[in-house]
Order: sequence, then structure tokens, then C-alpha cells
Amino acid sequence: MSTVLTHIGELVTNDPARDGLLGLVADAAVVVEGGRVAWVGPSDDAPAADQQYDVGGRAVLPGFVDSHSHLVFAGDRAQEFAARMTGEPYAAGGIRTTVAATRAATDEQLTSHVAHLVQEMARQGTTTLEIKSGYGLTVHDEARSLAVARQFTDETTFLGAHVVPADTDPAAYVDLVTGPMLAAAAPHARWIDVFCEEGAFDADQARAILTAGAVAGLRGRLHANQLTYGAGVRVAAELGLVAVDHCTYLADADVDALRESGTIATLLPGVEFSTRHPYPDARRLLDAGVRVAIASDCNPGSCFTSSMSFCVALAVREMGMSPAEAVHAATAGGAAALDRDDVGVLAPGRRADLTVLDAPSHVHLAYRPGVPLVRGVWQGGRPLA
Ligand SMILES: [Zn+2]
Repeated sequence: MSTVLTHIGELVTNDPARDGLLGLVADAAVVVEGGRVAWVGPSDDAPAADQQYDVGGRAVLPGFVDSHSHLVFAGDRAQEFAARMTGEPYAAGGIRTTVAATRAATDEQLTSHVAHLVQEMARQGTTTLEIKSGYGLTVHDEARSLAVARQFTDETTFLGAHVVPADTDPAAYVDLVTGPMLAAAAPHARWIDVFCEEGAFDADQARAILTAGAVAGLRGRLHANQLTYGAGVRVAAELGLVAVDHCTYLADADVDALRESGTIATLLPGVEFSTRHPYPDARRLLDAGVRVAIASDCNPGSCFTSSMSFCVALAVREMGMSPAEAVHAATAGGAAALDRDDVGVLAPGRRADLTVLDAPSHVHLAYRPGVPLVRGVWQGGRPLA
């Protein structure tokens, strides 16, 4: 069964074989077959298909690829957010509040909560997402968090090194994370991550944890330079990681290291919005030749948005990105940050994951912030109900 989407006013392909960063095609059509894109081109040249769907001049872009989220949790931290908005600072230790609630939740409660958030994301155009553990912090609770996440995505990340649990010796905890916890988590995870920050884990601990993860077959990612200038970004570059996330406080040497290693800087502007911290300087990174992705970091503490459209608008307004750069970073950028070549681009052979906007162009995502512009979402060639 093939379907042709016709009269796409503006199609964002992100196809490097086409002109410009976004590889735009005006008055376009896309043929979808077997869950994949079969053909892309001008509407007038579209081949016949079993079904036709008229997009009515709207813009279509690849589904968002959200490469950073923490959806497996229980509890609510709205009061902590409210307190922060009256002047209390954000600190890494707030994570422990969520850890207590997550440990107390049943598997069914965690699963239904993740399902709810994944549906919320899908309605807003996110068709690929990464989910981390990190609110269990025991062998059992980290493994079950990842088993829950695995029901919703292949992009699961073991983040036992989120914070040292209360009343625990840090060195003994690193031994646990790199030993029995890693062994229990690895069957459910593709990636391993460390919160490398003052108050969490230092550079040597991060290296030890990522190295142990690599031995267990997990690929590394890192939370780094979110709250302070630190060594995390340079560790990520030194280890040749695919992506390092946050990158808010960067020295010139960090920017140089990212460019030289090709490590993608994943920027999470919802966090700075929700913590009233300064935004990362995307313009500086892009001008230096560093590859950039945008993700939501959806989590109950520092940033509880699931909206990639909102993050795109923030990136344009607050981080010096053009609308085209921000849309690219939220789609193809996210795919690159997950080392995926099947999503983030609309070209023959790629997954037919696409978002129809109730707008004539991608610019409206930043031009009309806060407006629910996602009119339709196709995942693996099928429209979501
Ligand atoms: Zn995070």
C-alpha cells in the first residue's frame, strides 16, 4: 500500500543533496510505502499511489528527534519550580526528591506515566525519542526504569550516575554503577550517560563510568557544563562521544575541542527557561563549526516541557539561531546526536516520520511561539490518530 501526500506548500527534507540547510522543496509531494519514503519531488511530477492525501498547502517537516529526555519518574515538583521562580536557586540535589517517588511507584504506574508523556510528545510532532533512567539509583530500580523505557524506544540510556544517593559514599557508589548496576542495566540500554557537574560526578568518575559502559557494549553520552565551567565537555571530546549535552558554560578550548572531535553539542534551552540560567550560545558554536542539536530534556525538575516547537522558538529567540538552523537542529541534529541515519531527513529510503504544520512554512514554529501548529503526525508511514 503506497500513499502520496500532495500539495505540500513547503517541504523540509534536510537532504544534503538539495539546496540550502533545510533542502526545501516548494509545492512538493512525498510518496510513502512500507513505512519508508519512496519518492520526494514537485507535486506536479508525483507518481501515482494507492492512496492520496492532500496537505492543502501546509508545511511538512521530518518528525522531531528528541535526543534527551528523562521520562521514567513519579511525583511532581511544581512547588520546587514555583519556589525557584521566587528566587531559590536550582541545584543538582533536587533529583533526590524524584528518586524517592520513583522507587515508591509500581511498574504499572511508571509505564502508564511514560506512555502518557510519549503520547503527549507524539501529538506535538516528536517521532523519535531517547529516554534515560536515573531516578532509581539502585540496581533493581535502574534496571526496571530501563525496562519500562524500552517499551517505548530503542534509544534508552543508563544514567545510574545521575546523582550520588543520600547517605552514600561517592567512591562506593561509582563501584556499584560500574559493577552490578551496569550489569543489570546493559541488557535494556543502548547508551550510558553521566551527570558530570559540581555536586554530581567529576571528570575522573565520568571517564571511569563511560569506560566501563563501553566494555559492556554501551555507547557514551554526557551531561556537561550545565551549571559551571567544568571538564565535562573536554572529556566528551577526548573520548570521541557522539554527543555532549547542555554545553551552557564553555571556554574557547571547549569549543575548539568540540569542533575537532566532531562531538555534537546538544543544547537544551527549556532548562535555561525553567531555571532562569543564561542560555547556551548556539551562535558561537555554529560559527566555530560545531554541530548542534536541540532536545527537550523533559524531566520533572529542571525542565518539564515536552514541546520541541517551544525549544525551537527559544533557540531562535534566545540562542542566536535562525529558524532554519533551529529546525535542522531539532530534526537532523537530533538524529545525528543519536547516530541515526534513518530519521531526521525526508529522502527515499528514510523512515516516513513527518509532521504537518498548520502553517505555510517552518518559520512559523518560532514566529508563532506557544501556538499548537502541529496538524498531523505520520510515524513509520502511518498517520497517528
Ligand atoms: Zn538531562
